[in-house]
Amino acid sequence: MHPDRIRIVLIEPSHPGNIGAVARAMKNMGLSRLVLVSPEQFPDPQATWRAVSAADVLENALVVQSLDEAIGDCGFVVGASAKDRRIPWPVLDARKACAEIAVSSRDTEVAVLFGREDNGLANEELMRCNLHLAIPTSEVYSSLNLAMAVQIVAYELHMHRVGESLPEQADADWDAAPATQDNMERFFVHLEQTLSEIGFLNPAAPRQLMPRLRRLYSRLRLDEMELNILRGMLTETQKRIDPVDWSTRKRGG
Ligand code: SAH
Repeated sequence: MHPDRIRIVLIEPSHPGNIGAVARAMKNMGLSRLVLVSPEQFPDPQATWRAVSAADVLENALVVQSLDEAIGDCGFVVGASAKDRRIPWPVLDARKACAEIAVSSRDTEVAVLFGREDNGLANEELMRCNLHLAIPTSEVYSSLNLAMAVQIVAYELHMHRVGESLPEQADADWDAAPATQDNMERFFVHLEQTLSEIGFLNPAAPRQLMPRLRRLYSRLRLDEMELNILRGMLTETQKRIDPVDWSTRKRGG
């Protein structure tokens, strides 16, 4: 496991005290890379106060304005969430998810996303993830405080590290790097465009097609080479078709 390749990403945290407590939880467990997406109030004395001896984690925290900036270079993205979603996504409990994170950190940048205190991660954010992580809780109240959720994940990662309990890496000699989020997003734009041009996806009534295709391709954890092949197939498809005009549903001229 490479803790220096694992970043904790907080999406729009509203309480600076929580940010400080997250920094402390991370440092206690040997993590140092904190990314804040549009925090409401940061830097803030409350954050520094709650961080205690983890002020360095706060000082080095990266503040960005969008999820793209936070995870664009990552080859494995995990979203922490207690909620059930409309489209089920691959989900593991914190312990098993942390084993996957630890293995992935050997060959790519990894991000673990945590949501807003009031309403968690949005569906669009959860759909950017390869995997969801759920901390098992009582059925009557499943939502933990943000910093406590980070604490549990950081602890599980730490236990993997100290226990060396990682599964054997099956793909030690893999020949290509995992596809980054930036390239996955470019692929999804290209895919949506091509499916619309061939008349398979109606932009006016897209239904759940793109979320389902997102889930399919995210689950596979494509590498850069495989992604290039898919992009090449889309490009060749586009060259050979007469795009559908959806306003009249006729082939263009
Ligand atoms: N009221 C929000 C909960 C926000 S808690 C909601 O219902 O979604 C803040 C963040 O902590 C969540 O977005 C999630 O990333 C994390 N979290 C809280 N409880 C969790 C749990 N049981 N499993 C996984 N992540 C959890």
